[in-house]
Amino acid sequence: MIIQKELIHVLKISKENKIYQMCKENPAVAVVESGAVIAFETSDAFNDQVISEEQGIAKLDWDQVNPATGPVYVEGAKVGDVLKVQIQAINIADTGVLAAIPDAGLLGDQVTEPEVKILNITDGYVHFNSEIKVPVNPMIGVIGVAPAGEGIPCGAPDSHGGNMDNKKIVAGTTLYFPVFTEGAMLAMGDLHAAMGDGEIMVTGVEIAGSVKVQVDVLKGRSIAHPILETNSHYYTIASHKDLLEAVKISTAEMQKIVMEKLGLSFNEAGMLLSMAGDAEIAQVVDPLLTARFGLSKDILPEIF
Ligand code: CA
Repeated sequence: MIIQKELIHVLKISKENKIYQMCKENPAVAVVESGAVIAFETSDAFNDQVISEEQGIAKLDWDQVNPATGPVYVEGAKVGDVLKVQIQAINIADTGVLAAIPDAGLLGDQVTEPEVKILNITDGYVHFNSEIKVPVNPMIGVIGVAPAGEGIPCGAPDSHGGNMDNKKIVAGTTLYFPVFTEGAMLAMGDLHAAMGDGEIMVTGVEIAGSVKVQVDVLKGRSIAHPILETNSHYYTIASHKDLLEAVKISTAEMQKIVMEKLGLSFNEAGMLLSMAGDAEIAQVVDPLLTARFGLSKDILPEIF
């Protein structure tokens, strides 16, 4: 006899449910229980406005840039809890947009004319031109919860997540967010087919798509900044207008965790991180800059 597993219902959130800032005043587009599986359909960071290389970004309505889909209210999430978001799948469209924009990014002061490439994605590669192709690494640029105070534009990262532009946020990983308001109010968007650390010209391969996640509320533990778990590592993530401060905050967060979980002194935890931890850059082009500090799960098997 074949016992058929009960199909898990997936709630779909259409990309018509758009926000341009993460804010606790935003009305929820759906209310779900802890443990729910949700598929967020997402527009690209240009709100799907770039339709040809010729037109480029000349006619862009910049007020529509950096949308996120949501927010979703997760029942039981209270201030001080942790929202666990398991990224089960990321699906991306067939084409993505890459751009050079005057005065944007690390080299923007030398960009005299804007330029847009609409790139085809086939067989697991982004085709930059007829000779150069890059393996796809579908990742989420914007994902987060409502911040504690005033709303924060989706184009900015902070302790609530937001535009972290972290290429490690891929399918199979899990994010942990501090909960700053009842229901947490999860939203996401801004997928990239590929992006290098730093995102030096301000765009990855910007692309529409969808993300399937499972959300769970964790009680009894608070965090101040997002944490990412991959198969092999934990990463503490921090954003600040000064990159060195972002690196310091992410390092200090990991050090606190290591002291608590491994029972080490401050000096010991620091020495361990100096020997085995990695201070890394997520992005250096958004309103705040984002760093992540990685430590192998061989050393730190679990945080939660
Ligand atoms: Ca972004």
